[in-house]
Amino acid sequence: MNKNVLITGGTRGIGEAISREFAKKGYNLIINYVNSKEKAEKLKNELEEKYNINVLTVQADLADEKAIKNMVDIALNKFGKIDVLVNNAGIIIDKEFEEKTIEDWKQTLNINLIAPFILTKLIGKEMVKNKSGAIINISSINGINTYHPSSVDYDASKSGLISLTFDSAVEFSPYVRVNCIAPGWVDTEMNKDLSEDYVKEEIEKILVRRFGRPEEIAKVATFLASDDASFINSTVIKVAGGWY
Ligand code: NAD
Repeated sequence: MNKNVLITGGTRGIGEAISREFAKKGYNLIINYVNSKEKAEKLKNELEEKYNINVLTVQADLADEKAIKNMVDIALNKFGKIDVLVNNAGIIIDKEFEEKTIEDWKQTLNINLIAPFILTKLIGKEMVKNKSGAIINISSINGINTYHPSSVDYDASKSGLISLTFDSAVEFSPYVRVNCIAPGWVDTEMNKDLSEDYVKEEIEKILVRRFGRPEEIAKVATFLASDDASFINSTVIKVAGGWY
């Protein structure tokens, strides 16, 4: 029987690559999106046809707790169980430290950290009932080391996601493995406004001398969900090309 995976923000960037990679492995998908209904439907049709799987697309703004709960209910009604949860969706508000407001902090924490907590709580307990499951959190190298005051709220949310990984691995032990990926620079829309000079400077700090591709994160996510990773739990894997 196919396994089922729920991916937040699964229609673009790293999330889209994760949806594609799980589809390739034969999983049924629950793809969450916030605005891009058309893109979500197109992806659903493409992946269902190509891989003979079932794809459910669910609109939910992760800043809204009710919408999150509703999404989990819809997914459980359709598939009966969720084997894998990927907390991928995230935002970054680009402003100087001085300009950051409490509202910026709340918005960032709501989507990047509190939504993963709500989903982990709701889905983790279902996984325990099924005595099996894997949760993968997409943090960032900014959650480990950071020197950028302008992303203070984002960095705090990503450090928090690492703590959530460790704590929920304990909470749902021994049945659910909870791991975290900390990507470095990846070529997605999140970075579309970076200046050419800044990108060049950052590439100098990456040993492989380029930004990552979304698929390079997605392949680690499918590995962590698989039985090949059966002894990997409560850990953070940096996927950053040797960024220093
Ligand atoms: P992206 O901006 O292309 O994708 C972010 C996704 O989150 C989108 O699908 C978006 O719709 C979704 N999202 C945003 N707000 C939402 C909301 N309120 N409700 C539901 N979904 C919402 O960026 P990406 O690079 O693909 O980022 C994916 C994850 O990877 C994020 O958590 C990001 O922090 C992390 N990350 C990215 C990089 C990078 O360099 N691109 C590096 C480290 C970590």
